[in-house]
Amino acid sequence: MEPISRRRLLIGGGTAVTLATVAAVNWDDTSRLWWRVPGVDKPRKDGEVDHRGAHWIAASEANLRSADRPADYVIDRVVIHVTQSDFRTAVKVFRDPLHASAAHYVVRASDGRTVQMVRELDVAYHAGNRSYNERSIGIEHEGFVDRPQNFTEAMYLSSARLTADICKRYGIPVDRGHIVGHNEVPGADHTDPGPHWDWKRYIRYVREARDASSGSGSGSSGKASPGKA
Ligand SMILES: [Zn+2]
Repeated sequence: MEPISRRRLLIGGGTAVTLATVAAVNWDDTSRLWWRVPGVDKPRKDGEVDHRGAHWIAASEANLRSADRPADYVIDRVVIHVTQSDFRTAVKVFRDPLHASAAHYVVRASDGRTVQMVRELDVAYHAGNRSYNERSIGIEHEGFVDRPQNFTEAMYLSSARLTADICKRYGIPVDRGHIVGHNEVPGADHTDPGPHWDWKRYIRYVREARDASSGSGSGSSGKASPGKA
């Protein structure tokens, strides 16, 4: 993310002028500030992902709200979901403008392939709670809450690397107070991830992934890239 220089907003004797005036004077210097004007999106590159190893498939813009997190909303939660559908269907409905919801990520059961559908700076409608949507990143896992066989080792490991990466980038503690199930969101009427989601194992994997990436000293966000196939 580029730092925003306040000096860009000052002209002549230090007089603050409106963005529109500055833009008229020099579009090149100020175009990157346009997202700060209400109703104007921050520029973003097509296909860019926040997690190394994720593959981009855009959700419908109707299922999210453009934002500039963590500048406008602090990100301090990861919300764990289970899709109650197969992977393909989950991706499809998040692309549907009438679906009214989408998560930032969807992880596939068979191999842990991770698709990012909403940028982390944006607010995805996944938690059924406005304040939790604004403060969290939502991860969907392919499967059904009553089918424990859906929760594969590959999916746990891949998702744990993703959550470890998110926690590291936003300084979120790796614990059950900050990594929560959709069912634990206040007011949520959903039961996912359900009784078969192995929280102990998952948190252990997230801690291991976090420790592995911080121990490498490489500064890379992901230890490995899941689901390259
Ligand atoms: Zn859910």
